[in-house]
Amino acid sequence: MTGPAAPDLILHGGPILTMDGAAAGADASGPVPSGGQAIAIRGAGIMAVGRDSDVLALAGAGTRLVHLDGAAVLPGFQDQHAHPLVEGLQAGWVDLTRAADVASALRMLAGAAADARASFEVERWVEAWYHPSAWREGRHPTRDELDRIVPDVPVLLHHGSGHAALGNSLALAYAHITAERSDPPGATIERDASGEPTGMVRGSDPVAPFAAALPPLTPEALRAAARRAGSRLSAAGVTAVADAHVGWLGDPLSEIAAYAGAVLDEDLPQRLTLMPGLAHLATADEDPPTPGDVAALVPLDVRDRVRVGPAKFFADGALSTGDAWLRAPYADAADRPADLALGRPAHEPEALAERLRRAHLSGWQLATHAIGDAGIALTLDVYRRVLAAHPRPDHRHRIEHAMVLAPDLLRAAIELEVVAVLQPEFVTGAGDVYTTRLGDRTRDLYACRTWLDAGLRVAFASDRPFSPGAPLDGIRAAFRLAGPSGRRMHSDPGPTVAEALHAWTSGAAWAARDEARAGRLAAGLAADLVVLSADPATVAPKRWGTARDGIEVLATLVDGRTVFGDLGRA
Ligand SMILES: [Zn+2]
Repeated sequence: MTGPAAPDLILHGGPILTMDGAAAGADASGPVPSGGQAIAIRGAGIMAVGRDSDVLALAGAGTRLVHLDGAAVLPGFQDQHAHPLVEGLQAGWVDLTRAADVASALRMLAGAAADARASFEVERWVEAWYHPSAWREGRHPTRDELDRIVPDVPVLLHHGSGHAALGNSLALAYAHITAERSDPPGATIERDASGEPTGMVRGSDPVAPFAAALPPLTPEALRAAARRAGSRLSAAGVTAVADAHVGWLGDPLSEIAAYAGAVLDEDLPQRLTLMPGLAHLATADEDPPTPGDVAALVPLDVRDRVRVGPAKFFADGALSTGDAWLRAPYADAADRPADLALGRPAHEPEALAERLRRAHLSGWQLATHAIGDAGIALTLDVYRRVLAAHPRPDHRHRIEHAMVLAPDLLRAAIELEVVAVLQPEFVTGAGDVYTTRLGDRTRDLYACRTWLDAGLRVAFASDRPFSPGAPLDGIRAAFRLAGPSGRRMHSDPGPTVAEALHAWTSGAAWAARDEARAGRLAAGLAADLVVLSADPATVAPKRWGTARDGIEVLATLVDGRTVFGDLGRA
């Protein structure tokens, strides 16, 4: 008999932050758990983690040894709320966030329209994405401004939150968005005093009224989008990602097919969790498909890498577009239409309750987008009713974003054992807008120290492309908690480094019910890891995000394969 086969790779001589010992998702308040200084990988799995001398003793003739030389190894980041296909498509749009003001944004659109006219495609739209807070004026362009600069090519601007879209008159005409057109589900067509559409559409699905007129998303376009997203995620150290709204582009089957192809060809190397938007698959008064029904749509040859996770729902909209649903009027309500003083729910509350009840009974883990305190209160109330009537141990039902989490809602979330999936990087772009919208209630946003001390279970995620999305920047944002003005939103000291790392690794895997495969570094788990240029545990929170933090992703490994960077740099 010979001994066990030798590892293919050993990384040694540096800190290995295993994030182990916090697998239950609760206790992450101690120091960063450190299992040793070396990690051995064989095939797709972790063979051993431990002291240099113990792990190096496993090496055989064919083992590649890499000395870390100050670099640190962590579990790969788990981004369990993102929109990879949207990100990949957006990469092909005009990026108006690079403009300084509305006038320069309009000039960029004029340039893109000139390119569109010069192309040979018959139906060429100009699509762009923007964030008013990136511009000096801090406002949306108007339909008139778009018409004056581009009268003859349809233009569609996607708001950076994903919760609003703005068309020029030609886009509205192509899409038959007229005074007579009624609102489709998930979208509210904004109208002026005479009932004429203003060009702005708000809601959880603001592109819905335009969808039939937009050039069709071909399988090739979706595949290219998945490939672009995959390489960006790898560069950010992400080894697992969730699409937190399969069906958003209008066709869940095409989206699943694009992902499956990209995973099979290793264009999307991440472990993928699909979170179907069940509203695309069933009406409010019929039973939705079960998790098994949706899993059966995933081709057999990628099922080890593509899993079906929670079902996605929406309770309300976004704070930056003013349609998160609040219990008391927006602080800037005077600047808004009277019927929008509170924002609004995404569905009639009882219709959402019925959808959530049916999904729970069909076996789904629930993940509901809820941002305003009224949206969160409704979601928690429905979860409470559903769980009381149909108890399920270890349900891990989630609230996505959970932004205006007032003290009573925090207590309810903890009592119900609900997981909050948070995106602190939103603050970097929109923190000042939040302060304007919420006034005193800003103190309830991302009060991570208070929330963690109270016992809330959290995961961090990006919601990319609605934030730039690199996990290290998400951690920096959670520490800094300030918008473009640099003004800190409130005095909550935020998470520790260990808690922030946990929220992006083992905590996030737990929120996705994938903790048995990844999220920690331990023998028997997948060899999904990220190599950072420095040990984040040695950098104090207040140095993060300064020029001196010195932390960058050197390499990303999924199933033991290097998908970004070069281990030789470590
Ligand atoms: Zn999202």
